[in-house]
Amino acid sequence: MVRPSLPACSAVHDPSLVVRPVPPAEFGRRRRVVVTGGAGFVGSHLCEELVRRGDDVLVVDDLSTGRRENLVALAARGLRLTVASVADPAVAARACAEADFVFHLAGVVGVRRLADEPLAVMQSNLASTQAMLVAAAAAHVPILITSSSEVYGDGPVPFREHDPVRAGAVEGRRGGYACAKAMGEFLALGHAAASGLPVVVARLFNTVGPRQSGDHGMVLPRFVQQALRDEPLTVYGDGGQTRCFAHVGDVVRALADLARTEAAFGHVVNVGSERETTVLALAELVRERAGSRSSIRFVPYGDVFPAGFADPARRVPALERLRSLVGFAPSTPLPQIVDELVASERCRGTVPSPQPAGTSSHSFA
Ligand code: UDP
Repeated sequence: MVRPSLPACSAVHDPSLVVRPVPPAEFGRRRRVVVTGGAGFVGSHLCEELVRRGDDVLVVDDLSTGRRENLVALAARGLRLTVASVADPAVAARACAEADFVFHLAGVVGVRRLADEPLAVMQSNLASTQAMLVAAAAAHVPILITSSSEVYGDGPVPFREHDPVRAGAVEGRRGGYACAKAMGEFLALGHAAASGLPVVVARLFNTVGPRQSGDHGMVLPRFVQQALRDEPLTVYGDGGQTRCFAHVGDVVRALADLARTEAAFGHVVNVGSERETTVLALAELVRERAGSRSSIRFVPYGDVFPAGFADPARRVPALERLRSLVGFAPSTPLPQIVDELVASERCRGTVPSPQPAGTSSHSFA
């Protein structure tokens, strides 16, 4: 039996880092922004963008999946971190009480986790979103919540915001995450209807970039690490399934822009790239850009996922709504993203350095 090991609904307090009231003078006239999950991959990039735009940023993160290191550079620029779970209503209330705007990104992600710890993943996502929406409504502070393209399941592409939610079979495990995220969306719009809470729902598609971990699924960081170690690239199924990969820098720019766009409030908005690629083509691209000798190993789904754990065949967002609201959609070319990840992975020193020019072998299997 798989035992959930994630902290689900309970708060993870660090008493030395509880939220303290901040004298108004400390903020001056700058906007006070709270980012839940700000120590995570997308969250830390969003914090960078907000600090760059001049906001005062408070992160609330229980560090169950986020990392303090992601925020070190920003701490020197005034960003503050409270280590606590926003699933705790008291933590959520204090966070909202001192905010002019809230970005709610805290949540457990990663397909591996959905497969291994479905209960903990569902509970933590639902509880934290529920608590943050109640707190935001009580304080009447505008909030953007991040949801997931998982809510579209295996529907016809491109996925449009008004499409029905397709969580899939209850016995299929994956759908529980989609349902938890969709329930968060329903609650968000429910609060908007009930109390006039200004809320935006951003549905994130596959987002990639520096600092993303490959430990819990996340195909691109896994392929980059495998390629740099000259290990086989593990392509699940036949690799014909497709995804659209957006650079995290583009994604957080869109989120920051949406938060300042009045017309976005009360709506669901897809955020991602619309350039579709197969997983096999991605593996070949990574191998080529990394100058790797890796082979490609096709791994049957049954070897990595529980029975009935469906992998959507195609996932493509419709981005008309995003474009009309904020004037752009993520567009960094995939080869450029791969080059950046290869370079940053080499910088981290966890993989061998490239051989000098002329000595590397390209005997691709
Ligand atoms: N995938 C793969 N090899 C891996 C990890 C993932 O082929 O080592 C596939 C996975 O089955 C899916 C795609 O890559 O079709 C994207 O997976 P990821 O977990 O990054 O995101 P998802 O779109 O599934 O949420």
